[in-house]
Amino acid sequence: ALTALSASLDITDRKAIEEALRHSEQQLLRVMEAQKRFVSEASHEIKTPLAGIQGNLEVLLRFKDIPEEEKLEILQDCHREATRLGRLVTDLLGMAKGNADLPMIEDDVRLDQLVQDTFRELERTRGRRQMLLGQLDSCLVLGDPDRLKQLLVILVSNAIKYTPDGGTVTVHLLSGEKHIELRVEDTGIGIGEEDLKHVFDRFYRADNTAQGMTDPGGTGLGLNIARWIVEEHQGQIRLESQPGVGTTAIVTFPLLK
Ligand code: ADP
Repeated sequence: ALTALSASLDITDRKAIEEALRHSEQQLLRVMEAQKRFVSEASHEIKTPLAGIQGNLEVLLRFKDIPEEEKLEILQDCHREATRLGRLVTDLLGMAKGNADLPMIEDDVRLDQLVQDTFRELERTRGRRQMLLGQLDSCLVLGDPDRLKQLLVILVSNAIKYTPDGGTVTVHLLSGEKHIELRVEDTGIGIGEEDLKHVFDRFYRADNTAQGMTDPGGTGLGLNIARWIVEEHQGQIRLESQPGVGTTAIVTFPLLK
């Protein structure tokens, strides 16, 4: 039908249509390519902990005379991997939902209230770290409350996860002349310069857990989701960090007039 249509049009129209079609085809191919890459990366991420669990269970089934202590270690390993797998599936589902082209809800959101609520909820997971609410200006933004909450959970959980006992996590919300700034500061293990360039990449995990901390078993999806949420709200996100000193996540949103 398109060929018939283009035949009935004059040369310049036909050229424009052909050009537009070529462009859409290229875009479609790019999206398909990105989807293929995502599926292959996701399967790889799922297979790794699964292989760990399978291997460990095989050992338990095959060898009957493993000492109790060793058995316990193997089971703990299985448990760790299964927990990681669970987190991965939750994050992947969250991503799929986010990418499903569902329109973002646009609602008036009291960001200071949301920060305070999320902060209180996550305080339960702080262990032996200190958690402080710094300056908390009253801020109204137009946005999706669930997504903004997800963003706060990701940033504050990361600050907690990558800060050893005795460290401090502080959250500030500052309302400026032109924009709102959210700062999540921690005195944790920090991120090296090279890793810092990649932390927003899907599935990327910095090799920064060796410094006296057990691996908190992340999925490498949190910051990728965080960036997507921020961009959907016309904001910007960046991380400043110094290994051994700490990390600050800085999010800015345009001010609602
Ligand atoms: P993960 O689920 O692994 O935490 P993220 O995408 O949230 O995935 O973060 C990517 C990586 O960036 C993490 O694996 C970690 O190495 C590093 N990172 C993120 N936040 C912090 C932080 N506050 N302090 C130190 N490292 C961090």
